[in-house]
Amino acid sequence: LLEIDGVTKHYGTLEVLSNLSLSVDEHEVICLIGPSGCGKSTLLRCINRLEEISLGEIRIHGDRITGPGVDLDRLRRDIGIVFQGYNLFPHMTVLQNTTLAPLKVLGMKRREAEDRAMAFLERIGLAHKAGDYPDRLSGGQQQRVAIVRALMMDPMLLLLDEITSALDPELVAEVLDIVRDLAARGMTMMLATHEMGFAREVANRICFLQAGKIYEQGPPAEIFGNPKGERTQAFLRSLK
Ligand code: ATP
Ligand code: MG
Repeated sequence: LLEIDGVTKHYGTLEVLSNLSLSVDEHEVICLIGPSGCGKSTLLRCINRLEEISLGEIRIHGDRITGPGVDLDRLRRDIGIVFQGYNLFPHMTVLQNTTLAPLKVLGMKRREAEDRAMAFLERIGLAHKAGDYPDRLSGGQQQRVAIVRALMMDPMLLLLDEITSALDPELVAEVLDIVRDLAARGMTMMLATHEMGFAREVANRICFLQAGKIYEQGPPAEIFGNPKGERTQAFLRSLK
């Protein structure tokens, strides 16, 4: 589904991604882990074209999505992204937040968009909050609404960047439940996380990034149970 092919990204003279390659199959859940500053967020942002890469190419189903001449609206419909700080519009209700893009970008009928939003909200147990403004919701609830907002576009790939790191521990579980549910439904996801327990549970594959490169990758049991690389071992040790 996704091929990241020899991607290098510079910020000025700083090389943040170094000739990084990775392919993601349909229905895979990939967790990016690694020390702060290793390039996890940058990689996700490059895939969604919030940042431009310096070298290399990224393809979706074989079509190049980096470089000139790419329809970015289309791209962002196909690839959803959710960040740490949920970014809901404060002056819009939950229902308005979740239906805005389908109405504006997809030209969906209001009735259809609202039915679809309500079905998703129902699924995550927040249908009763549809008419509320974001400041009436807990952080965990807001983050779940942000995920619903991304799902409304029916993306083929969902990028999740530290979606639980702004949350109090007791709210983390409800967000992780959604991700687990999406994984079970076959959603292809790439997520950056500092929650190793979560990564271990939800991912098919763990990629350990180090200095803008994938230093080691493999199934969770292998990476967490028996990491081969010295750097991976040191990183995991440092979390204990
Ligand atoms: P964390 O675990 O803390 O979220 P990360 O792995 O997501 O870290 P990135 O945010 O991708 O790391 O940052 C990679 C490097 O790029 C860091 O050295 C960071 O300082 C730098 N960087 C990120 N964004 C910019 C920017 N807009 N301009 C300049 N440098 C940046
Ligand atoms: Mg980050």
